[in-house]
Amino acid sequence: MAERVIPLVDQRLSALRAAVPATAIAADGLLADTRGRELRDLRISVTDRCNFRCSYCMPKEVFDKDYRYLPHASLLSFEEITRLARQFLAHGVRKIRLTGGEPLLRKNIEILIAQLADLRTVDGTPPELTLTTNGSLLARKARALKDAGLKRVTVSLDGLDDAVFRRMNDVDFPVAEVLEGLAAAREAGLGPIKVNMVVKRGTNEDQVVPMARHFRSSGIVLRFIEYMDVGATNGWRMDEVMPSAEVRARIAAHFPLVQLDPSAPGETAERWGYADGEGEVGFISSVTQAFCGDCNRARLSTEGKLYLCLFAANGYDLRELLRGGADDAQLASAIGHIWQGRSDRYSELRGTQGADTGPAGRRVEMSYIGG
Ligand code: SAM
Ligand code: SF4
Ligand code: SF4
Repeated sequence: MAERVIPLVDQRLSALRAAVPATAIAADGLLADTRGRELRDLRISVTDRCNFRCSYCMPKEVFDKDYRYLPHASLLSFEEITRLARQFLAHGVRKIRLTGGEPLLRKNIEILIAQLADLRTVDGTPPELTLTTNGSLLARKARALKDAGLKRVTVSLDGLDDAVFRRMNDVDFPVAEVLEGLAAAREAGLGPIKVNMVVKRGTNEDQVVPMARHFRSSGIVLRFIEYMDVGATNGWRMDEVMPSAEVRARIAAHFPLVQLDPSAPGETAERWGYADGEGEVGFISSVTQAFCGDCNRARLSTEGKLYLCLFAANGYDLRELLRGGADDAQLASAIGHIWQGRSDRYSELRGTQGADTGPAGRRVEMSYIGG
């Protein structure tokens, strides 16, 4: 059993100041960072709580009954989230993903979805509004989410075998209920649906082929995610990572695959199709194959900090600006200024000295900024 690393520093306590620059930065959709990367994708974490305890994300030993979640007053309100999202859209964001923690645990999430669905991109189109969930509450909520304006969902599912799945979520949650949630999402029209599976060697690798078999021909795109060294609590070890190439080889031994073209720039998943035309699978290889070159994703934490990279040690405190009375132009300028200074490329540097994101324990948790 691997020894767990307990976080020494609570990274939520520190923040970088989000300053309004002296010269205003126009929100004209043309923003780019120091490496020429545009801002296209905004991930908003709406809660730091979760009803699962996936060992790779919120291990029980750390996220126990004594763990202090953010108090309600720290969370951005729906109005604050919507106001910030409007500025991000003005800077070129096309896609908004709600995440967490478990986003469906945030009370009245449908109200936030309705507010975000009313916003527009610089092209005048509605944002592509999506949500990543563990699926546990989806059977109950899919219809209301769709009615509120959600376009589609991504469901995380790490296996089909009930015993393996219960072990992965570590709260004894049955796989059948997630499958019911998937069915409800499909029925409500929340598609195209994606399913994300984190593959951890020695834990759920035997689920790779059954998952591929189950979802091929279903119209649902299954994506395999390499177990990542996010946060400081999951006791990550390289030997528990199953490289995408190996996952792909396992599937191809049963169902031959052909590589497909990427669907959009900044797309995180490499797409492969079943040679017999029965759908496609994706591989998100953030450990073995860096994709920072066109990373166009910004992350807004539950309490309003802007993170420029999944592996960043700190975020910029937008809530302070919001609650300090900044107007929309000032908020947009501050966001523009922060993005223009962005140089993050952790995955490309992983394992080198440049990859240091701070002292051990300073890296932000996935459950805090979302995936
Ligand atoms: N609770 C929701 C869920 O599980 O879908 C949303 C938040 S969760 C942090 C978002 C995604 O991050 C999930 O697909 C999860 O599997 C993934 N994730 C969490 N920790 C990870 C890790 N260490 N490596 C790779 N993916 C991880
Ligand atoms: Fe919860 Fe999602 Fe993290 Fe699992 S991956 S513990 S479901 S936030
Ligand atoms: Fe983007 Fe950071 Fe991931 Fe690179 S490591 S792809 S910059 S989030």
